[in-house]
Amino acid sequence: MTEKLYYADSYQKEFSAKVEELHPLAGDLWGIVLDRTAFYPEGGGQPCDTGWLDDIPVQAVLEKDGSIMHVTATRPVGNTVVGRLNWRRRFDHMQQHSGEHILSAVFADLFGRENIGFHLGADAVYIDVTMDSLTGEQAAAAEAAANAVVFANLPVKCQMVSDHDLAKFPLRKQPAKGFAKLRLVSVAGVDCCPCGGTHVAASGEIGLIKIRSWERKAGAVRVDFVCGGRALEDYRLNSSVARELSVRLSVPVAEVPAAAERHLSRLEALNKQLQAARQELAGRLADDLYEKADIFTDMRLVVSVIPDATAAELADLAKTVLARGRAVVFLATGNAELNKSHFVFACTPGTSANMGGLLKKALAVTGGKGGGSAHLAQGGGIWSDKLEDALRLAREDVIG
Ligand SMILES: [Zn+2]
Repeated sequence: MTEKLYYADSYQKEFSAKVEELHPLAGDLWGIVLDRTAFYPEGGGQPCDTGWLDDIPVQAVLEKDGSIMHVTATRPVGNTVVGRLNWRRRFDHMQQHSGEHILSAVFADLFGRENIGFHLGADAVYIDVTMDSLTGEQAAAAEAAANAVVFANLPVKCQMVSDHDLAKFPLRKQPAKGFAKLRLVSVAGVDCCPCGGTHVAASGEIGLIKIRSWERKAGAVRVDFVCGGRALEDYRLNSSVARELSVRLSVPVAEVPAAAERHLSRLEALNKQLQAARQELAGRLADDLYEKADIFTDMRLVVSVIPDATAAELADLAKTVLARGRAVVFLATGNAELNKSHFVFACTPGTSANMGGLLKKALAVTGGKGGGSAHLAQGGGIWSDKLEDALRLAREDVIG
């Protein structure tokens, strides 16, 4: 059994200990068991501490059957070590975990709903609360109540309690299993529940509790929040984004959403106009191509390279030309910068020319892949400067 120094004092950053066991682990790692440790092992929703044993970085900390194992890449030389915590990480966990107790207590108090899940990760902290939904007003009320507890700077106490004394405590959550002694964490008059995690000594150290968002998840409402240093980081990010948008849109921060909405509506209207103009232009281009095309037997022979068109625009153009009358249409487009080229070969059904076969011949000139039926074929590949040559070949094939 390792003596858990973090149970007695979550502020202990440094300690000395005897090395009791050394286990070689997979991947050239070592598992070091000490007689005592301030390193919190992963568990109860809280990630493990990191830090150093002498100068050896501690990568992970695990607990098994009361023994705490520190995972390192090298083994210590002596029989004793000095352990030092990565305090920044530990204090962050203390702020988030203590904030979680208060927020969960507030949800229980205001809405009579229970916290059934807690996650504390590097990127996100959340609780799952047994609610069908959460309104903006409810979230704001919970946030205000939680921060009132923070501002009141109430003492947070951790104590070991035996089975028969448990009834004296107003527990928010019942312990999961039988026990001889249980560790209770309480925030004076606000919350009391069993927990093995590390906590701040007074609620004021949490600094701030900010709900960021929430969503329905697995039959509960998942509430994403940040506390303390993470809340400051979140505020920094949000205020710098808001400031930047306010400058770009030339409105005060409070008016950014309305100004963005106006810009988006305008963009949508402009897009519609652009679409209509493009369609009209394509119609005129189709007219032009059809009118100026050579007449071969009873149909038009439309052959053209259209610069910088997309594959879809080229196919639309071919369709629009065919709508004008009987025709064979050989279109190509290419963009040297994007290193792309594309062909659309199409004809009025019943024409003797085979588009699929002709496309294969054209692609043999330029390189690329494609195929299709007797009256519609398309394909392409990387940019080629032989698009005109390929089209000429197709044209000659038709006029024989
Ligand atoms: Zn806890």
